[in-house]
Amino acid sequence: MDDPAIQAALEAVKRNEANFTDEQIRICQIAAPPFHEEVRAQELERLFQGLGLKDVRIDKTGNVIGTRPGASAHPNLLFQAHLDTVFPEGTDVHVTRDGTVLKGPGIGDDCRGLVVVLGVIKALNDANVKTAGTITFAADVGEEGLGDLRGTKALFSDTLKGQIDKFISVDGTGLSITNAGVGSYRYRVEFKGPGGHSFGAFGMANPIQAMGRAIAKIDNFDVPKDPKTTFNVGRVGGGTSVNAIPFECWMEVDMRSADKDSLETLHGKFKAAIQEAVNEENRRWTARGSVSADPKLVGYRPPGSTPADSAIVITALAVSKIFGFKGSPGEGSTDANVPMNLGIPAITIGGGGRGTGAHALDETFDTKDDYVGTQRALVLAVALAR
Ligand SMILES: [Zn+2]
Repeated sequence: MDDPAIQAALEAVKRNEANFTDEQIRICQIAAPPFHEEVRAQELERLFQGLGLKDVRIDKTGNVIGTRPGASAHPNLLFQAHLDTVFPEGTDVHVTRDGTVLKGPGIGDDCRGLVVVLGVIKALNDANVKTAGTITFAADVGEEGLGDLRGTKALFSDTLKGQIDKFISVDGTGLSITNAGVGSYRYRVEFKGPGGHSFGAFGMANPIQAMGRAIAKIDNFDVPKDPKTTFNVGRVGGGTSVNAIPFECWMEVDMRSADKDSLETLHGKFKAAIQEAVNEENRRWTARGSVSADPKLVGYRPPGSTPADSAIVITALAVSKIFGFKGSPGEGSTDANVPMNLGIPAITIGGGGRGTGAHALDETFDTKDDYVGTQRALVLAVALAR
């Protein structure tokens, strides 16, 4: 904090903040629905080029990447925010402004993160800050929902494979720090049988009744409270008529934990429960055809965590304290899950300001003193690129 170049960079952040508020609105008004982030990605590519990053490109998954070389190639810090929103194509993405409060879908999550990334690059340039290691900046796709972290998965398994030593994602608002990544398995399970008349074909194994057995077993799972591990049968459907033995039905199931072993244990129990339910149903009704189940994985977010006593978390807490953060690190499900799962030091931080209604159409972002979020991110980036 005593380094004159850092002080100059912090002043630059403050000076530039009003421009970046305008940028935040402008970027938010470029729709980036799930699986269609291309237009916003092209804009970020243009902005990265304008800020003088090296080797600016869009990878084949759609992530925008650019490098700001330091004195040496390593450590190489990947510093990113996500392009995508949860809002489908055709959503009105117009942003309104009332005093310091901006309102529009995605204004905080994660347009705030995107302008923090841009604001950090600009201020480092303005103050001529030379970092010891290198910072690779990215705007990634597929963070939300069924995007399943596909952008960050591609960065670590392909585009930047083996090149990244540390990771920060700027996601949403406030000054929080996330060091535990809640992983999840999501399944759609289809149960099938021959089906028939409820009276005439009585004695036939029934897919819905098999699914009922499975749901009862899932409901009885014992899961650890700490680390918090959860399951939910969220949707069911199927059948044709009250007087027909159904030929098919389905359910959607979500399982979560930040702890690898707990999540894998739960996953194993889930698969066993489906098979046991089918076997029980087929033993109960042997006369007229059997049922089967097909569990399809529709989502997977790898779990992981960065230990609270690791250098990256201690550094993040120390830097955050300078800027008034008084909390402790917490859990979340973000892009940082991917490096955490690989054992690469990783955290997710908020981008400053105050947000409400993330993932809702009337999401708001209060810009009051939001430059503090960019300042914190800048100092943290410089500290970690050492
Ligand atoms: Zn987000």
